Formats: sequence, structure tokens, C-alpha cells
Amino acid sequence: MQTSKNYQRIVKSFFGLIFFWLSVLAAAAATRPNILFIMTDDHAAHALSCYGSKINETPHLDRIAKEGMRFDRCFAVNSICTPSRATILTGKYSHMNGVPVFNRFDGSQTTVSKLLQTAGYYTAIVGKWHLGSDPTGFDHWNILPGQGRYIDPVLYDRSGSRVHRGYATDVITDLTIDALKNRPPDKPFFMMCHHKAPHREWTPNEKHRAAFAKRTIPEPATLYDDYATRTDAIREQHQSVFNDLTRRDLKLTPPAELKGQALAQWNNTKPTEVEIEVNGQKKVLTGDELRKWKYQRYMQDYLACVQSVDDNAGRLLDWLEANGLRENTVVIYTSDQGFFLGDHGLYDKRFMYEPSLRMPFLVRWPAVIKPGSTQEGIAINADFAPTFLDLAEAKVPGEMQGRSLVSLFRGARPSHWRTAMYYRYYHDPGHHNTRAHYGVRTETHKLIYFWKKDQWECFDLVKDPEELRNIYSDPAAANVVKQLKAELLRLKNELKDEDQFANELPRDGVDGPAPARAPGAAP
Ligand code: CA
Repeated sequence: MQTSKNYQRIVKSFFGLIFFWLSVLAAAAATRPNILFIMTDDHAAHALSCYGSKINETPHLDRIAKEGMRFDRCFAVNSICTPSRATILTGKYSHMNGVPVFNRFDGSQTTVSKLLQTAGYYTAIVGKWHLGSDPTGFDHWNILPGQGRYIDPVLYDRSGSRVHRGYATDVITDLTIDALKNRPPDKPFFMMCHHKAPHREWTPNEKHRAAFAKRTIPEPATLYDDYATRTDAIREQHQSVFNDLTRRDLKLTPPAELKGQALAQWNNTKPTEVEIEVNGQKKVLTGDELRKWKYQRYMQDYLACVQSVDDNAGRLLDWLEANGLRENTVVIYTSDQGFFLGDHGLYDKRFMYEPSLRMPFLVRWPAVIKPGSTQEGIAINADFAPTFLDLAEAKVPGEMQGRSLVSLFRGARPSHWRTAMYYRYYHDPGHHNTRAHYGVRTETHKLIYFWKKDQWECFDLVKDPEELRNIYSDPAAANVVKQLKAELLRLKNELKDEDQFANELPRDGVDGPAPARAPGAAP
């Protein structure tokens, strides 16, 4: 009898405990926020009006800043597409996640999507993936193979691939909304909406192309940078607006008779003269006239692509609002790195200079973030994974090298918050003959080491925010340089960067890794 009573008591307390934990889990699930992570490819912060753009207006993306927080010092730890994506998924630097250049991502490693899935989130990714292997840790994925196409893009998922008629940025937004509509109702969601735009070759939709073709875009102050005081690296690069944009980039029409190899060669040529039509008259552009024209052609198409991103961010925000999801959804807007918009005469990214290093990072979370606030704490893309886990009230693994930004969202900056970040770029010579380098950026200075050449650059970001004057050899800067070198070494050791990939030759694809395999296609 006694045994039976004891048994009943044990059973009762067992079910009581289960009920208690189910209630705790249910309460957590009810309050844990959804996460909508919108990321573009190569969208520089200085092409968003909330970051003070002088060249365009982005009213919908500005809404996120106006109703949330703008981070002013968010940086990529390796400013290039595939490595940045690997860092965002793993919370680790390139030398720890195996993706320093365009390597195939090993999806068996720990990723934030897997951990969020375990924590009870519905996880999904739609759009550009660009990691060479198929996604892991996502309940739903529908991705572009490799770089994907701007017009009528193909996307593939577990069941196969199909063509979606329309413009990539619109299509990816449609598919994101579809996935959100079809999500399980009892789970918070983690949705990654990854746009292809505004990546090279900058193909806009017709509406924005036509509108921007009529505009004259203001030139940046450093377009004609003469690189005086700088190292060989910036003189040797092949990412110059004036010298390296191809006929394809400039959208020049090839002669009708060209086909196959001859056509490809014509398109890939970097023209030193261009014939255009002005008021029905043919005109040949050369010299400075051609240089200015190239900048305009580049920026008109780039900004027109950004405008579609802005329109579609507005659509997503409206959809959240119309479906009662505004209050409990953390919306983040970022780009995988920055981009040179003619700054220092460049396009593309890679270099540790500010326009490329800096990522736009906007976050809205009505329950927590003060509208219209800004944050100067140094954030890095390795912080994103720990941040998502913190939002989900899940444990951040010790192996992740970033830190949660949630306390910064609340407007606080912990006293022990980082005051410097470490950067490393590997893809040398890569597609643009960009020299490998590593360096440190503090709140006031930057030190860059082009290690293969044993050449240094140092900038005072307070006195010289445009990074035009290299003070490395300036006797007055000797003490600062010494301190920066010590900090660089400290961070390099702390992050366990033991030059694992220093001598690895990059495996170049055609402006990216080998495309992820579409099901049924040859590997
Ligand atoms: Ca990119």
C-alpha cells in the first residue's frame, strides 16, 4: 500500500515537473522574439540616407533606423562575400571556420541556424547563400545557385530548382513572405532574407534603371586620390573605377555580329575609349571625360539596384505590420560588407579601408530599442550569431568568437566592451590583384600590415577620416604605432590566428566559389 502511494507521489511530482517545464518553455516561446535578418550583397553604408548618403535616398531602410537603432561602427572581419557569410553563420573568424577565401563551407560544423533550431525556432533562408555547399540547420531553404541571376532567377530547394519570372530582389522578397506565411504557428521564426543586389554586374530593374540614368551622381571627395604616402598595395590593385570596369560593367552594347568567345572577350575588355550618342550625335569619350562617365555609369546602376532593395525592405516591414508581427520581431538590415563607391578611385571591397570594412547595421525591436537611437560601440559580423542566440535565450558556445549585441540594443555599452577589432583579408591576388593584409581598427586609429610586402599603413581616423595620409613613418606617430602594433598582436593571439591560411593559394572561381550544386546537376 505504502509502495503504491509512494509510486503515485513520484508519478504526480514527475508530471508536475514536466508540466512546470512545459509552462516555462511555452512562456519563453511566447516572449522570445522572431528574428528577420535582411542582408544584401555589397551595399555600402554611405548609400543609405540614414547614414548620411549624399548620393541617394532610402526611405524604407531609414524606417528601421528611425524606429530602431543605427550602428555606426559595425565591421566585417574579412571584407568579401563568402567569408563574411561563413562568419555570420558560425560566429567565428575565417581562420576558424575554414572559409578565408571562396572555400566550400563545411556544413557539418556548428552554426547558429542549427542551434536556433534546437532552441525551438523555425529557421529559414531565402536568396543568396554563396557558400558552395547546401544549407544545414534550416527547416526551409530556397537559394540561388552561386551568384544567381538578376532577371528570372533560378532558385533551388530540397526538391529541385525552378525559374522564377521577375527581378531577383522582388522574387526573393515574395519567396520570403511565402515562407513566413507557411511557417509553423507555434514557433518563433528566424528568417534570413538574403538579396543578391546590389552585387556586380549591377543590373537594375527597368523602372529604376531609367530613373537613375537621368541623374548625375555627386563624385566622392577621394575619387581622384593620388595615393601619395601610401603603400604599393593600393597602386597595384585592379579595382579602379577608371581603369578596371569592363564593357559589360558599363553596359555597352556589343556589335551584333559578335558571338561566343569573341563576344565574351569584347564584353570583358576594359575600354580606354567609348563611343556614346549625345542628342543624336556620336561622340567618342577619352581621358577625364571618359573617367567621369565611367563613374556615372557605375553609380547609376548600383544605386538603381539599391532602390529595389529599399522598396522591398518596405514591403517586408509592411507585411510584418499587417500581420501583427511588428512588436515582437527583431528586424535587422545589413550587408555582407561595405563597398567602394568611387572612394579612393575604387569599386569592389576587400581592402580594410572604411568604405569596405564598414557594414550598415540597422536594428528595430519596438519592445526594447529606443527609436532613433545610435550606437558607437564596435560591432563585428562575428557578433551576429551570438546575438541571435541571446535573443532566443539559448546558450552561446564558447568557441564562438563574437559577442552578443543585445546589451548594446538596450542602449548600454558594457564597460568591458571591445575598443578595437581585428581584420584579415586573404584573397591575393584574387580577382582584383588585392594584396593580403591584416590589421587593427580602434575607435580612433587604424593600422594595416600588407605582410607579403612587409609594408604598413596607419591612419588617424579622427583627424583624417578619409584615410588619405599614411602616418606610419611619421616620427610624431611613433608611440601610437607602437601601441597599435601591440594591440594587433594581442588580438591576433587572442583570436588564435596562427597564420593557418597565410600560404594558401586562393581557389578562384568566376567572381565567387563554384556554385552550390543544384539537385540533379553534376557536382
Ligand atoms: Ca558581398
